[in-house]
Amino acid sequence: MPNLEKYEIVVVGGGASGLVAGLFTSRRMLKTLIISQDVGGQAATTPDIENYPGYDKVDGLDLMHKFKNQAEKFGAIFRLETVQSIEPLPENHYRVNTNTFSVETEVVILAFGLSHRHLDIPGEQEYVGKGVFYCAICDPKYYEGKNAVVVGGGSSAAQAALSISELAKQVTVVNLNPALSAENILIQRLNEKSNVKVISNMQTKAIQGKDWVEGILVADKGTKQEQILPCDCVFVEVGYMAKAGWIKDLVKTDQRNQIIISPNCETSRPGIFAAGDITTISFKQVVISAGEGAKAALEAHQYLLAKQGKRAGKIDWGTKK
Ligand SMILES: Cc1cc2nc3c(=O)[nH]c(=O)nc-3n(C[C@H](O)[C@H](O)[C@H](O)COP(=O)(O)OP(=O)(O)OC[C@H]3O[C@@H](n4cnc5c(N)ncnc54)[C@H](O)[C@@H]3O)c2cc1C
Repeated sequence: MPNLEKYEIVVVGGGASGLVAGLFTSRRMLKTLIISQDVGGQAATTPDIENYPGYDKVDGLDLMHKFKNQAEKFGAIFRLETVQSIEPLPENHYRVNTNTFSVETEVVILAFGLSHRHLDIPGEQEYVGKGVFYCAICDPKYYEGKNAVVVGGGSSAAQAALSISELAKQVTVVNLNPALSAENILIQRLNEKSNVKVISNMQTKAIQGKDWVEGILVADKGTKQEQILPCDCVFVEVGYMAKAGWIKDLVKTDQRNQIIISPNCETSRPGIFAAGDITTISFKQVVISAGEGAKAALEAHQYLLAKQGKRAGKIDWGTKK
């Protein structure tokens, strides 16, 4: 086996938690690699973050690029890839494998967040990229001047509908439950939009079309009456779920597939820390993920010092090891 490139820290995931973890470990002059499928994770998919301290309103993608640039400024290396597996090596080192490269590390920080929940109905898989999308702000050309459907009733569905309504001719929100569960302020904004219609208590049963989506089949949950809503595109916004199945043999997870952590972001395995939405923390917000990323990084630093028989201060005001 060829010698692997060695790091002190490998962060899996480049959302708010992973990027901040990388910032804090690189400020501690730890050799840090962040491996992520994309830049910014969920936060990068919303144009309007209104509860991140210091900003009245900030574009999520811009904020995440600031996080990334700041981490890189202190020496963190960022690589776009998917981590496929993590193997324990002797002395609590780990081998982190992607499809194109593997590295060895003393510490892993798991920050791979949440993934889109799917509808799992006929037509969904078939039309992915052909009218079925999961990110409203990523794909504006598909709804400009068009009739769009948003499936979902929570805050991410409401935010998606608001973004789409800026360019689309008409937006129909198809909500499974009797009422929207989005934040009140978002519901109020939806109500003010003349080109947004909300249909509640309606189950989405299938997505239909020929080469491209042409409509969705819905059924009223009360009367069971079915109808086809013609549309040009469907945005699925039915929430997010932890997909930690691939890591289950390595660290303990709960029944919702979230990684169980201590208050110090430790997992059940020495040298593996976790932060942000993928963990058992109660609230899933940018500021919380960012804070958890910082905490995991500082705890990882303490762990490495303890392995060398040294003690560390608890602050991040300097850049010394
Ligand atoms: C539409 C929307 C609007 C939101 N609005 C707000 C808001 O206004 N305010 C607020 O505070 N919060 C908001 N949130 C929630 C907030 O974005 C999240 O709580 C936070 O960004 C989570 O950050 P994270 O780093 O923990 O996880 P994520 O953002 O999920 O990041 C995980 C990262 O890991 C990567 N990844 C996953 N698997 C792998 C793998 N195997 N290998 C490598 N990389 C991997 C992903 O590509 C991603 O980059 C919103 C979320 C959404 C979806």
